[in-house]
Amino acid sequence: MSITNLELKTYLDGLLRVNEISDYCPNGLQVEGKGNIQKVVTGVTASQALIDKAIDVNADAILVHHGYFWKGETQAITGMKKKRIAALLANDINLYGYHLPLDVHPEYGNNRQLGDLLHVENIRAATQIKPVGVVMLGELAEPMSASSLQEKLQQLLGRQVLVETTEGSTLKSIAWCTGGGQGFIESAVELGVDGFITGEVSEQTIHTAREMNISFFAAGHHATERYGIKALGEHIKEHFAIDVEFIDIPNPA
Ligand SMILES: [Zn+2]
Repeated sequence: MSITNLELKTYLDGLLRVNEISDYCPNGLQVEGKGNIQKVVTGVTASQALIDKAIDVNADAILVHHGYFWKGETQAITGMKKKRIAALLANDINLYGYHLPLDVHPEYGNNRQLGDLLHVENIRAATQIKPVGVVMLGELAEPMSASSLQEKLQQLLGRQVLVETTEGSTLKSIAWCTGGGQGFIESAVELGVDGFITGEVSEQTIHTAREMNISFFAAGHHATERYGIKALGEHIKEHFAIDVEFIDIPNPA
């Protein structure tokens, strides 16, 4: 089976409600390639390594969470960006990028998928934090210590997880934001949860965790954001009966 590149764009833009979510990059078809799509490669970031693998497997399209053209970066197509875009154009590969619309999606989103991976119960979006879905919360099936949750995260994500906690604290309710969501730690405090999980950590995050008495976990930007694009890829594979392959390019950050 195959679909056109514009059909795929229209479908994904609608599914992920691109027009309703303001973002700091363009969401949707970022680099146009061939009109007909039979094979899609999904991945977290449209890095050169992912493009090279997509070329190897004859992909017609790449679908990622981190695409190009971020607000604040130079608009010139030079250096690393030139090489990446040249490779896409030379191979007529379409690049689709969905950033915040993918983080927040109630079913295929990064946050929802991470909550499901952790078997969190009563998963819901923190409606007071915009865009809605960028922070989710819920309850752990069993109350557990911060080190048990750290261990669980390490097993599920296959990497080291940084934890900052007060000795003896037990967690039942947690909030999370995949990727670089450490700036939401105070919002998590306001939600009244026992713990907050995100991908990255900043120096000041540790002080907030200590002084606001919330257990904090930094589980990796890449590691926490593998699951949304994977779930979205599985969905379009079924929906359009096209070939979709998730390719993980490991990243320790
Ligand atoms: Zn991200």
